[in-house]
Amino acid sequence: MGKIGGFLEFDRQEPGYRPKEERIADYRAVERRLSDKDLHEQAARCMNCGIPFCHGTGCPVQNVIPEFNDMAYRGRWKEALDVLLTTNPFPEFTSRICPAPCEAACVLELSNGQPVTIREIEKAVIETGFERGYMKPRPPAVRTGKRVAVIGSGPAGLSVAHVLNQLGHTVVVYDKSHRPGGILRYGIPDFKLEKWVVDRRIKLMMEEGVEFENDVTVGIDISYRYLETRFDAVVLAAGSRQPRDLPIPGRELKGVHYAMELLMAQNRKLAGEVVPPEYDIVAEGKNVLVIGGGDTGSDCVGTSLRHGARSVTQIEIMPKPPEERHESTPWPNWPLKLRTSSSHKEGGWRLWQVSATQFVGNDEGNVVGAQCVEMNIDFKDGRPAFSPKAGSEFAIEADLVFLAMGFVGPATNPMLDELGIARTPRGGIAIDELHMTNVPGVFAVGDMAQGQSLVVRAMADGRDAAVQVDTWLKAQK
Ligand SMILES: Cc1cc2nc3c(=O)[nH]c(=O)nc-3n(C[C@H](O)[C@H](O)[C@H](O)COP(=O)(O)OP(=O)(O)OC[C@H]3O[C@@H](n4cnc5c(N)ncnc54)[C@H](O)[C@@H]3O)c2cc1C
Repeated sequence: MGKIGGFLEFDRQEPGYRPKEERIADYRAVERRLSDKDLHEQAARCMNCGIPFCHGTGCPVQNVIPEFNDMAYRGRWKEALDVLLTTNPFPEFTSRICPAPCEAACVLELSNGQPVTIREIEKAVIETGFERGYMKPRPPAVRTGKRVAVIGSGPAGLSVAHVLNQLGHTVVVYDKSHRPGGILRYGIPDFKLEKWVVDRRIKLMMEEGVEFENDVTVGIDISYRYLETRFDAVVLAAGSRQPRDLPIPGRELKGVHYAMELLMAQNRKLAGEVVPPEYDIVAEGKNVLVIGGGDTGSDCVGTSLRHGARSVTQIEIMPKPPEERHESTPWPNWPLKLRTSSSHKEGGWRLWQVSATQFVGNDEGNVVGAQCVEMNIDFKDGRPAFSPKAGSEFAIEADLVFLAMGFVGPATNPMLDELGIARTPRGGIAIDELHMTNVPGVFAVGDMAQGQSLVVRAMADGRDAAVQVDTWLKAQK
């Protein structure tokens, strides 16, 4: 259980970020690593609680956290890795970009507000595993002869492919993008997740026998009929990539983009891919307005600052969250509270309870600003109802606008219509408790089925669905 009384002896210590001036001059990961000594002390703080809420309530993949904390404390890295890999297919992703609901559910968060640095210990376990050569390809000993097509190579698709391959099925992952990884590769900036981490995992999966077919849009380049003749099951893992629009006057002006247009272009450029000029967005010297206060908006802030934007303003329609956990989300729940990302610490302004009502353009059709207004919010049955606050109108100068207001559901695809795949009332793919759609042998996982969420949830969903696909395959003649 770490060190008896360790939590009394040592305070929580986070690795922190590289200095601001240094990090906004490049796109490398902003987060530092703890020293071996600090890591040993941090692992010593775990209390091995009778009921480990971190594991049971907090972690969507149910990582067995007290056990690997203890092994990390004792320097038993191989055993820590073995425990971690029993639940988590890709700890190198979660340990870098997970918001760590496990830490919010740690009993030390309840007692003194200083949870164990679980995410950092997880990173040390997996990275030590790679450094010491413990992370070797482990192809399955026996192949079943069953073939599965996975559509989409984001965290959900990778996770379902990994587990099905381990179970001996032959898996081909199709993706319309040039390289596998989904939002891990083309959405999340390098300063949060460097892409060699994704490449390293894809290489390992290939060595284990997973096949990747990129630059293939299923439903356009190949049909369901094609897949049906070659595979015993199909798993849809194409994400929830239809962005929410803001249809206000001036939406058509040049310089108003969906957030993903900026993030994709930037990630492609850093990867050495050719970005045609019409898709290349440059914020250097510009006043940037980001609409939407979530992760995607924050990634636009960090990216714009690295481009050398003159100013960056982020607006959010919801009220400013409290600095501390709100009473509506008591421990061990994921807390409603103000989140300040590394990008927010680098610059820019944030405004809450504000909405844009109109984009303003010049004679050339370029956006030059936005009319905004403060909002009144009434909560009726827990749902917010918004109305403009009279007399609060103001203007923001902006020659680039990024819409980062979430995603409304899976992108349209002829295959879904051809197959008659049933949808949920909110537009996602409807699945039963076995992750199967209304079409036998066609399963759906990740954001496509669950709605826009987190990398760790997409991975958990893929892992759990793989078990159902395996059961279904075994039941087929
Ligand atoms: C900008 C941004 C930042 C984020 N930051 C974080 C973060 O820091 N931490 C976190 O936990 N979560 C974060 N998230 C959320 C997280 O990335 C998603 O929840 C997760 O990636 C969903 O995984 P997925 O596999 O379901 O879908 P995706 O990652 O969207 O992958 C879907 C894949 O399907 C492919 N595809 C789609 N249609 C087809 C087709 N017809 N044929 C072939 N391929 C197809 C796409 O090219 C894509 O590669 C972020 C999301 C965004 C947008």
